[in-house]
Amino acid sequence: MRHRVVVVGAGFGGLFAIKALRRADVDITLINGTAYHLFQPLLYQVATGILSEGEVAPPIREVLKRQKNVDVRLGWVQDVDVENKVVSVNGPGIDYTVEYDTLIVAAGASQSYFGNDEFAEYAPGMKSIDDALELRARIFGAFEVADLQTDPADKERWLTFVVVGAGPTGTEMAGQIAELAHRTLPSQYRHIDTRKSRILLVDAVGAVLNTFGDRLSGRARDQLEKLGVEVMLNTKVVGVDTTGIEVETSSGRQRIPTMTKVWAAGVAAPTLATKLADAAGAKTDRAGRVLVEKDTTVPGHPEIFVLGDMMNLAGEDGRPLPGVAQVAIQSGRHAADQIKRRLGGKPDKQPFKYFDKGSLATISRFSAVASIGKLHLSGFPAWVVWVAVHLFYLVGFKNRVTAVLHWAVSFLGRGRSERVATQQQAFARRALRLYGDPFKREAEESR
Ligand SMILES: Cc1cc2nc3c(=O)[nH]c(=O)nc-3n(C[C@H](O)[C@H](O)[C@H](O)COP(=O)(O)OP(=O)(O)OC[C@H]3O[C@@H](n4cnc5c(N)ncnc54)[C@H](O)[C@@H]3O)c2cc1C
Repeated sequence: MRHRVVVVGAGFGGLFAIKALRRADVDITLINGTAYHLFQPLLYQVATGILSEGEVAPPIREVLKRQKNVDVRLGWVQDVDVENKVVSVNGPGIDYTVEYDTLIVAAGASQSYFGNDEFAEYAPGMKSIDDALELRARIFGAFEVADLQTDPADKERWLTFVVVGAGPTGTEMAGQIAELAHRTLPSQYRHIDTRKSRILLVDAVGAVLNTFGDRLSGRARDQLEKLGVEVMLNTKVVGVDTTGIEVETSSGRQRIPTMTKVWAAGVAAPTLATKLADAAGAKTDRAGRVLVEKDTTVPGHPEIFVLGDMMNLAGEDGRPLPGVAQVAIQSGRHAADQIKRRLGGKPDKQPFKYFDKGSLATISRFSAVASIGKLHLSGFPAWVVWVAVHLFYLVGFKNRVTAVLHWAVSFLGRGRSERVATQQQAFARRALRLYGDPFKREAEESR
């Protein structure tokens, strides 16, 4: 029997590990909760009507169709039996198990509301296609409802958008909502002036894009303000409900009436990380990430690799490596390399060395910031780099071509090609709360 590698998660970490094993003498089983790979960095463009969901989420089977040593299986891994080397999976209406010789776990991160999970119903996060489509429905829906209001205070509440978290995702969201309000929509409504919309970007820390350094952070803030975004820093969100958001600053508490809230602050490892760590006797950090050895394996379990957003591994500066695509991609390739070395009888357990290729964040069309080694760019040159990098990493030739067409429509023109949202998407969170997780329900009903 060939060596069996089970990979949990078809994100950047899992997918790049699998691709690096394409010529290896192994049988790979990839288990992923969805049937598609998700290119998270462009989710905000799905939420704001620039791209379709298919463009950022190619089917995994299509991506891997030529790689004969991979079997793709749909389902959410619930648990890992580290003694017997078996993972148990909750599929749609069916539970199953898969045995492994080597396990790669790259299940990413989920949204963290810092202990205030009740905020999620009113302020969706930005982690999945469901989130992005629900936000699309809420954002475009807000302009529609505002147009119907007769009371000016109601109009204002529907035309106020609050984005929580001034990291790359929050900055990109705020920038795009501002572009919608000021550039795309003004000529399309008769009862509201969309240019009077308020777009607020709120963060508890004192800088926009604070990991980019003072200069680029200041530039990003200037570019946002030029677009009409109100940047509220050193401002902590202490309450969120249907009609508003409550914030706290050094001068006290304030309520901001708003119907549309977006949560782009905080990540936490999925519960699978805690379960795996408990089973393997490993430690987790405050965000729930698994503390791994230098080669990204779980201490005492050289057969289990934990990658990408789920791992806590110190970089050269002693701080944990950031939750970015490049860490996941490079750790995926590293794990594959260690497996090949092990099977080839070469010394393994080599430390993972992360090569930082730089950071990028876009603010609006033709405007971005880029920090690449000693090179710090902002404005149009940074935006060109941003376009090139995102096209390079977007999976699938077809998706690259259509993304470029859609960017031309939105950035050279004023259009948004993807504004459709269904009723279900608009009420997704409430429906899930009322009716429960369909996977779990089907599994329970079939018993
Ligand atoms: C909105 C957003 C914007 C971002 N922008 C950038 C950016 O501009 N640049 C950048 O470098 N990084 C960005 N990131 C971060 C980057 O996307 C992540 O660091 C990267 O995706 C991590 O890769 P991963 O393989 O660890 O996890 P992911 O890519 O999150 O993949 C995890 C996979 O595991 C699956 N999964 C989860 N749990 C289970 C389970 N129990 N069983 C089976 N499958 C499971 C999921 O369905 C998913 O396919 C962004 C992230 C978000 C959310």
